[in-house]
Amino acid sequence: MAAKTLKGQIGVTTENIFPVIKQFLYSDHEIFLRELVANAVDATQKMKALASSGDFKGELGELKVSIELDEKKQVLKVIDRGIGMTEEEVDKYINQIAFSSAGEFLEKYKDQLGSIIGHFGLGFYSAFMVARKVTIDTLSWKEGAKAVKWTCDGSPEYSMGESDKEERGTVITLHLDDDAKEFGEKGRISQLLGKYCKFMPVPVVFGKKTEWKDGKSVETDEDNVINSIAPIWAKAPSELKDEDYLKFYRELYPMEEEPMFWIHLNVDYPFNLTGVLYFPKIKERMAIDKNKIQLYCNQMFVTDHVDNIVPDFLTLLHGVIDSPDIPLNVSRSYLQSDSNVKKISTYITKKVADRLEEIFKEQRDQFEQKWDNIKLFIEYGMLSDEKFCERAMNFALLKNTDDKFFSLEDYRKAIEPEQTDKDKNVVYLYATKPQEQYSFIEAAKNMGYDVLLMDCELDSHFVNLIEGKVEHTRFARVDSDSVSNLILKEEKVKFEMSEDDKKSLDELFKAVLPEGNEYMVDAQNLGEGAAPVLITQSEWMRRYREMSNLGGGMNFYGTMPESYNVIVNMENPLIARIWESKDKDSELLKQVIDLALLSNGMLKGKALADFIARSQALLNV
Ligand code: ADP
Repeated sequence: MAAKTLKGQIGVTTENIFPVIKQFLYSDHEIFLRELVANAVDATQKMKALASSGDFKGELGELKVSIELDEKKQVLKVIDRGIGMTEEEVDKYINQIAFSSAGEFLEKYKDQLGSIIGHFGLGFYSAFMVARKVTIDTLSWKEGAKAVKWTCDGSPEYSMGESDKEERGTVITLHLDDDAKEFGEKGRISQLLGKYCKFMPVPVVFGKKTEWKDGKSVETDEDNVINSIAPIWAKAPSELKDEDYLKFYRELYPMEEEPMFWIHLNVDYPFNLTGVLYFPKIKERMAIDKNKIQLYCNQMFVTDHVDNIVPDFLTLLHGVIDSPDIPLNVSRSYLQSDSNVKKISTYITKKVADRLEEIFKEQRDQFEQKWDNIKLFIEYGMLSDEKFCERAMNFALLKNTDDKFFSLEDYRKAIEPEQTDKDKNVVYLYATKPQEQYSFIEAAKNMGYDVLLMDCELDSHFVNLIEGKVEHTRFARVDSDSVSNLILKEEKVKFEMSEDDKKSLDELFKAVLPEGNEYMVDAQNLGEGAAPVLITQSEWMRRYREMSNLGGGMNFYGTMPESYNVIVNMENPLIARIWESKDKDSELLKQVIDLALLSNGMLKGKALADFIARSQALLNV
């Protein structure tokens, strides 16, 4: 009996929207496969639901989704044993809703298609990005339903008639376009299934498993299932051991070092979100690959660009987030203002802070051990996210130059008695390069002060942040002044010198100091036993310079020559001799300046060789 075939016009406003789709969505053609498999998975899940509610009492059969590719004919099939569709349903969902919503979608976003998130879920319709002809053969689960065949060749005309399909479910057949030949290769389809379907909740089968026999690879009878239907984020944390989390991490990132710890996210109100986030070892912000969080929607891969969904500092983490509540068919800029996305972002930030605080409280040893590798993450978070900062003030650590760790509160208590200056500011001393600043660190320690280690690339910003957050706090690098001036306990008595003397002291020292930098020569009384000359760098000038360098801009402070304070200790007997002679060529003058440069790590190359030669000559006298 010849099947009765209906012809009709798809309700689309644009004359022919297929070329439009192809043109605008060029870079994302590959998502058609995810969309078709997702539909097949949905239909299968609905079937399961009907069976478990008792509405369907028949034979379920093996519930799987199969992908079949005929490389020769360039035909790709997606086959499911889901609920199928009746004729009315095909008409409603495919002819009217699917096509008209696609039409509306294009109409609405015509002007900004380029900026639209690549993954908008046009669903079934996206098949036309790669196929010149698409056929649907479907048989609904409903009793008495007739199988339907629907065919469309990419014009707004479709035909619909009877199908000879006998098994419940749907087969979507794609006759691939000449310019979509890449999707007619097994390797490419395997890769796409691996990318988009790896964790879908129904077995997805692509061909048969192969094995090696007599030196060649042969097909076995066993289905090649490409996904794991119950990834760990879909399980309850109580069912999982550390090893499960580590195994999953290795599966996601086979090339990465082991993570330090992880968080299992699981919330169903006021939005749905599951996931596992891992803390990788972070040493340098710039060296970190940010696209390591994968976003899923009901176990279907969506994207690994989550930058508009989680705060920037969280993109340093690795792992998986799965949420059906993140809208996918909107532009990226809109995403940030979406209220669900905002809530999700706040929730994740809070969870991350909770977990860190928990480790800080319950496993302080571990926390300290791992601090060097999470410090950058925490400081970055504190600097960029107000809420996270509030929380992290409780668990951020400070490390001193003896490798001891303190919470912010404990540290303040510890240094307050010795390190409060005359203006009631508590002065936090710090070193950035302990080797180069060794003599300054020792001098500070001899005064009974503690010196922090601040050698992270964000520390100059972090120091500003803490000064802003904690009242009466000042940070000073140990080499920013002589030790007696770092923390002034009482008003300093100015060293008296006439203007003329000041001028000649200035000239005398500048004649010998190395060129290329700026110097402020300053006479002070530091005591007979203290060094003759100290070279320091003003805390503020240095910080501005560091911050403008970090920002990358060549602004005012970044382009200025380095500027140093040269403190001349007038009480030192050597200086007394130099000052008396005022001899610019004096070996002694060169020697005391070189010694000061040396203790700052600033004496290099020829200047260093000259210094050594001069020292030897002096010893021989
Ligand atoms: P969406 O999946 O976003 O609703 P689609 O265009 O992908 O949009 O599909 C439209 C509708 O067609 C689906 O909601 C579903 O009702 C029906 N459909 C599509 N594919 C299948 C399938 N394999 N089995 C059963 N119904 C399907």
